[in-house]
Amino acid sequence: MSAIDIRGVARRFGALQALDGVDLQIAQGEFFSLLGPSGCGKTTLLNIIAGFLEPSAGSVALGGRDITRLAPHERDIGMVFQNYALFPHLNVFDNVAYGLRVRRQKGEAIRERVASMLALVRLSELAQRMPHQLSGGQQQRVAIARALAIKPQVLLLDEPLSNLDAKLRKEMQAELRRLQRDVGITTVMVTHDQEEALGLSDRIGILGGGRLQQVGTPLELYRQPANRFVGEFVGQANLIAAQPEGGGYFKALSHEAAEGTPLRLFAGEGQAGQTLFLLRPERIRLAEPDGAPAGPNEVEGQVREASYTGAELHLTVTLPGAGVLHVAAPESLFGQVPQAGVGVRLSWEAHDLVPLPDDNAAAKGSAA
Ligand code: ATP
Repeated sequence: MSAIDIRGVARRFGALQALDGVDLQIAQGEFFSLLGPSGCGKTTLLNIIAGFLEPSAGSVALGGRDITRLAPHERDIGMVFQNYALFPHLNVFDNVAYGLRVRRQKGEAIRERVASMLALVRLSELAQRMPHQLSGGQQQRVAIARALAIKPQVLLLDEPLSNLDAKLRKEMQAELRRLQRDVGITTVMVTHDQEEALGLSDRIGILGGGRLQQVGTPLELYRQPANRFVGEFVGQANLIAAQPEGGGYFKALSHEAAEGTPLRLFAGEGQAGQTLFLLRPERIRLAEPDGAPAGPNEVEGQVREASYTGAELHLTVTLPGAGVLHVAAPESLFGQVPQAGVGVRLSWEAHDLVPLPDDNAAAKGSAA
């Protein structure tokens, strides 16, 4: 049985279909993230699970129990909000104890539970502090301790790290994953941040236009995107529209090797009807223009822009005819960041061309 079972969930706001036909099963103990562009319906879905919003259609079950019509406090769910929502007039201890007092637990049981929650989030020393005397990361930990204190079946996190600076955010990501593993609680997190979702989650659901576009592990989403929307949204992608020429060869429609001469691709046999390929920037090899030929997938170009991120060089390369390719290379490849105008030869393997269904219109459809 799934820990969370979402069936046919839809939600309208007036004329806007914010969610449509969402089916999703989340396993016990899983760390699941909802990821997608702004306005795709992530928060709406989280609020439907939490009980702050009713779906226009469909059902939500927790551990086999239908909770679709239950109020939030009847759902056995702990929630951490984006702004933490700590009670400003209560100290750390009383914030964490709040849900236990509402549930009329005894004083000794409350003291024990709060102490164990504060130990879990490593804040035992700060039990008497007021929220305004805490850093952002510490407030975040109190919010997590408060959500977990009532021993909920499910933890919901709404952009939990978005108010923290980059360094603290990294630390809290590791902390969040440790806490989640220690407690073993089924967790659903909404985030804008791809890197965060890829790094933390067992599985991710990509929402686009109110529909689940794909559900998979981070690796599956990156390597085998189900459609163009996911391919473009997760990571950086070169998309090449193409026409089959037979024998595993394709004529690119979007990229020209020289003016009027299409870039030719070799994707191998078995891709006969394919019209759209994805090529990840880090799969493209870089060489000097006058090097030895690398194989059937090869083109010369000119660096238009180069940026250095510490671990990688990101190049935008213009092809002589038309089109650009984004390339990510290890920073050690060049002695320095290449100047604009430098000539390079790009090559890749047939299996680096990932076939995609061309479904852009479908993915955008219901967002309008
Ligand atoms: P973001 O990442 O920007 O927070 P999101 O993916 O969480 O976006 P939602 O907040 O779920 O998106 O909103 C989905 C769509 O529903 C948006 O177009 C939004 O404007 C609309 N919407 C959300 N809440 C309401 C509401 N109460 N009334 C009308 N429209 C709403």
